Amino acid sequence: MVDIREWAKAFPKTVKLYLSDPYLRWAKAKVLGIVRERGPKFYVVLNESIFHPRGGGQPSDVGFIKLGESVLEVRKVLDVGGVLAHYSRLVEGEEVGVGDVVSCELDWGLRYTVMKLHTAGHILDYAVQAVYGRAVDTLGAFHGLPNPYVEYVAEPPTQGMLREIEEVANRVVQEGRPVRFLTVPKEELPKAVFNAPNLARIPEANEYRVVVIEGVNGIPCTGTHVRNTKEVGRVSVTDVVRKGKYFRLHYTVENTQ
Ligand SMILES: [Zn+2]
Repeated sequence: MVDIREWAKAFPKTVKLYLSDPYLRWAKAKVLGIVRERGPKFYVVLNESIFHPRGGGQPSDVGFIKLGESVLEVRKVLDVGGVLAHYSRLVEGEEVGVGDVVSCELDWGLRYTVMKLHTAGHILDYAVQAVYGRAVDTLGAFHGLPNPYVEYVAEPPTQGMLREIEEVANRVVQEGRPVRFLTVPKEELPKAVFNAPNLARIPEANEYRVVVIEGVNGIPCTGTHVRNTKEVGRVSVTDVVRKGKYFRLHYTVENTQ
């Protein structure tokens, strides 16, 4: 077994292509490191990557790394201090080597669903705040299949409130609001962030990425989102589970796989 934390320290931070263009399904990249974990399974470090790692409320992207006859199936991606380690299984051909320029391909259907779910999560944050009439903090969130959810620190909503939450959310979806991201220095964060949960516990950094749904909210976030709320299709709340001081709101979007 490889000590992936130690091994990853040798590499520069991976350029995260999904931050600047979440619609990138395919890209070339250079192999900076590859190590066998066991059998046909390897960790691969690239200079830049279209694969979003597991974390920040998102599941890991999956897909393929290819070179000629060689095919590595990317099963999960870990962010090890800014270095992305692609845990992959060699399914065809020979293993690739350091310095090789490989083709990376996302499982786009799955990623696009996650982009819709993640954007819907931001819209639900807004809808919950609107219906409760105050800022409602979030705890965990998972914007992935099979069971996406967001956790809110509040008493669970009544049936009537739930219907309203769905209505407010779907109004935002139908309005087709642009979704943008800004990179802002620490001093400008208060101007860029609005209607956001957890304002008291934004981690310290010199620079922030803020995802702005026009007229809805601006939330510090490093995930992948759609560029217009219309792409979400339709948001449905599927279940609400009380968890002591908070509740878990399960939801889905139209056209999930
Ligand atoms: Zn986000």
